[in-house]
Amino acid sequence: MSTPTQIPVWSIDTGPAAAQAVAHAVQNRQIGQGKLTRLFEQQLAQLLGVPHLFCTTSGTNALLMALIQLGVGCGDEVIIPAMSWVATANAPLLLGAKVVLVDVEPTRPVMDINKLQAAISPKTKAIIAVHLNGIATQMEPLLAIAQAHGIGVVEDACQALLSRHHGRCLGSFGRFGAFSLGVAKMLTTGQGGLLVCQSAEDAAAIESIRNQGQCGGVLGEKMERLGGNFKFNDVLAALGLVQLPLLAGRVRHHLAIQEAYARGLAGVAGMRAISANAAAGEHPLRAEWHCQDRQRFIQRMAEQGIEVAARSTGLHRVPHIGAQLADCEQYPHAQAYEGHFITLPSGPEQPLENVQRVIEAIHAL
Ligand SMILES: *Cc1c(COP(=O)(O)O)cnc(C)c1O
Repeated sequence: MSTPTQIPVWSIDTGPAAAQAVAHAVQNRQIGQGKLTRLFEQQLAQLLGVPHLFCTTSGTNALLMALIQLGVGCGDEVIIPAMSWVATANAPLLLGAKVVLVDVEPTRPVMDINKLQAAISPKTKAIIAVHLNGIATQMEPLLAIAQAHGIGVVEDACQALLSRHHGRCLGSFGRFGAFSLGVAKMLTTGQGGLLVCQSAEDAAAIESIRNQGQCGGVLGEKMERLGGNFKFNDVLAALGLVQLPLLAGRVRHHLAIQEAYARGLAGVAGMRAISANAAAGEHPLRAEWHCQDRQRFIQRMAEQGIEVAARSTGLHRVPHIGAQLADCEQYPHAQAYEGHFITLPSGPEQPLENVQRVIEAIHAL
């Protein structure tokens, strides 16, 4: 028998000023993509230290816009790590491209750059580096290899907002960086995404792609390229703007949760932390662990009202990505995580007392 959930796996609140900010936007008829969206974009660009940033409807669509600008289409190949949320694969697949997987590092769930070269072919159009749970892909060697082949690099930083690598924000290394504003992310507008780019030329193209490929001042004046409706709206921007002052505290809280679990669960048999490197400027999005006997663990925690999530992150096991990829031996490190990846209760509004209760419950098992 399970008791009702007392400790949810994820907890986030948009803050005390959110309801009024949203009401204010609606009362002022600011419901389309307008001034508040631009303000939100400017403040986020400053926060991340990037020259150009665009809000859009999801992290998936941010990836999609970047891939459209890189010219990814039917028959092209896009290289991604063998571990990620499936959205990383779906974006290139939606454009008719083929996904080529590269295994992850032995002890960190990010692309193993030593295996990147072998995955490149004449059809490779783009590489997506995923900074899973705020853990950085080694961007310098990746960029060097990509540059030598003239391949565009997109960072999937959807789980890495404000996480840093060599003194810079993740998402600011590649030609493009994508972020998510979904509910289970560091900053949320319910649904939403951000796309960062470095050049003015890419910025102008993304602005056009976001709005049906139009350019020029007057709506419909000039249809320049293929685009879509990837526009954001000011109601969501209002919800996002009021959370910006809360972000630094959220980062600190996520680090405190990571540390509490690391200390509290040190030496527990069958459990290993998948931690961000705080000393290097990284911070985690969630408390993610490798758990030997996952199914039983989740069941026994549920019996105590504690929600633990099983994460299926091995893309080599996802059928629609392609049967030719289903060979587990090709991705031994991703395979080693498969069936063992869990998320313990975390999130910006998860009280540290809850974390302590979870730790005690695990010791009592
Ligand atoms: C959340 C997420 C996405 C997609 O973002 P959505 O806003 O849900 O579309 C892509 N990649 C990773 C790694 C994610 O965690």
